[in-house]
Amino acid sequence: MPDDDKSKAGKTRGDKPEGGKPEGGKPERGEPEGARPGGGRPKGEKPEVERATNFIRNFVDEDLENKRYSFVMTRFPPEPNGYLHIGHAKSVCLNFGLAGDYGGRCNMRFDDTNPVKEDVEYVESILNDVRWLGFDWQERLYYASDYFDRLYDCAEKLILSGDAYVCDLSPEEVRAYRGTLTEPGQDSPWRNRPAEESLDLFRRMKAGEFAEGEKFLRAKIDMASPNLNMRDPAIYRIKKASHHRTGDKWVIYPMYDYTHCISDAIEGVTHSICTLEFEDHRPLYDWVLEKLDWPEPRPRQIEFARLNLEYTLMSKRKLLELVKENRVRGWDDPRLPTLAALRRRGLTPASIRLFCERIGVAKKDSWIEMEWLDKAVRDDLNPSVKRAMAVVDPLKVVIENWPEGKVSLLSAPYFPDEPERMGYRDLPMTREIFIERDDFRLSPSPDFFRLAPGRTARLRWGGFVHCHEAVTDGSGAVVELRATHSEDPPPSGGGRKPAIIHWVSADKSVPATVRLYDRLFLTPKPTGDLDAELNPESLVERPSARLEPSLAESLPGQRFQFERLGYFIRDDGIDGGGEAGPKTVFNRIVTLKDGWARRSKDKGR
Ligand code: ATP
Ligand code: MG
Repeated sequence: MPDDDKSKAGKTRGDKPEGGKPEGGKPERGEPEGARPGGGRPKGEKPEVERATNFIRNFVDEDLENKRYSFVMTRFPPEPNGYLHIGHAKSVCLNFGLAGDYGGRCNMRFDDTNPVKEDVEYVESILNDVRWLGFDWQERLYYASDYFDRLYDCAEKLILSGDAYVCDLSPEEVRAYRGTLTEPGQDSPWRNRPAEESLDLFRRMKAGEFAEGEKFLRAKIDMASPNLNMRDPAIYRIKKASHHRTGDKWVIYPMYDYTHCISDAIEGVTHSICTLEFEDHRPLYDWVLEKLDWPEPRPRQIEFARLNLEYTLMSKRKLLELVKENRVRGWDDPRLPTLAALRRRGLTPASIRLFCERIGVAKKDSWIEMEWLDKAVRDDLNPSVKRAMAVVDPLKVVIENWPEGKVSLLSAPYFPDEPERMGYRDLPMTREIFIERDDFRLSPSPDFFRLAPGRTARLRWGGFVHCHEAVTDGSGAVVELRATHSEDPPPSGGGRKPAIIHWVSADKSVPATVRLYDRLFLTPKPTGDLDAELNPESLVERPSARLEPSLAESLPGQRFQFERLGYFIRDDGIDGGGEAGPKTVFNRIVTLKDGWARRSKDKGR
């Protein structure tokens, strides 16, 4: 008997991914958070892109115009066998978004037909993730397992109408009879078994009289069909496993393809949107409802290209491998594409919705550049987060003309573009400060314009420092700079203006760990060879970072732009971060600009 099912769906499709450009329009700006009951786009959120161009919407418009349907009903149908990732988010946004735009509804439905792989733990996490994304299914939370009785009745009906039969072939025989892409299959010797006999056997399968693999129920369609899915596919198999919702009530379980179309039809779904690999399954979807004589209007299946995001992987199997082999720190490790990880990384739901909006939907597989996600995150956070200063890799500067013990409080706006919007904080200026080690070179190359011996740099909000000496240790490493401070710029003399660098007071700053995250893979289209492809620098921890004092008041989950470094979130995770931990931890959400291309070049990647 064949194994389930949709995980194997259409892996034969040969569509080549191409391009990296989204289908939607131009990136513009972020959108507010907040969910709207009734499904659909969260309240106040306008689609950024004029979406008339989306082919799914064209189908929907056509169906409404032709009066095939008088309303729009969609569903998001995860199988509770893993955590949701950003690819699922595309499907969530599409299904809920479409329903919302047409004043329709979107159901939440678990396709829980395989008791062996599924778990309540996943159900909870999936519901949590969809809610977090900002969508609301109201009271419409369903499970395919809710329909097991009806699915069973439908199967008896198909047997009686001569459209299904119980087959005794072993899994090996089934494979041998199936034929290939170029050769037709062969009829099963049980194909013409009388309906009464099949019905009796099917009832005895249900009663638990047979072992797994001994018999299965299959649709009677066409063993010579060029579409392998139509060669008498299995619709029920024996599985002596406890189901997370129906317990031990059943020992036979319906197959995914059979279940999905009937579940859609029961719920009155109008547009059953799924990924491209199900295109070849559509004839079966339609066949089942046709043979059951399901009343019109029946649901219409529409396929779109799944999201592939560069530098990451979304296969559940590969994600599991990364977690199991401890290549990452659990399912919510901020380097993963799971929604739990992206949430912990500090992405907002609005930024993910914006990303999904911009990439749009297409009928052809493609890879989307990671930069599109980063850009959506920046556009969302830019207008809404405070600016602050942090030094992740501190180098001490002693300002020799600054009196010992003198503290000047400088007032700096949290949002310099509109200083009054978010107010001001005090920045203490002291004799000893920290600057970023990377902002200094002992022997600067011609394209390095920041601090060096004999040079002046401007301290953000804090005047100018002129470096006249670099103190080195025995190994020649720079351990401290000696400088003088002035409020006024040096005489220009026609040279470059001093570069602006960030800084914090040495003794008034707050110690912290800062985690700098980067692409998980080095290759844009990873194949899953973890040893060769994983980026060894996907997480760089800076345990000696220093934060400006105002950040001591920050709360776990609060986001900031650290000037020149990127957007950060105070991490409230368990491993050393957050309030409970001994030390403040910040995660970098995203850099300020795309540094990957430049860094890859530097490293000869
Ligand atoms: P598998 O095939 O391993 O079971 P899946 O990723 O297809 O996993 P489902 O739980 O079946 O997981 O997915 C729920 C919905 O999300 C389906 O409608 C599926 O088509 C859609 N989906 C899954 N992955 C992507 C993706 N990368 N891009 C867009 N939609 C996706
Ligand atoms: Mg799937």
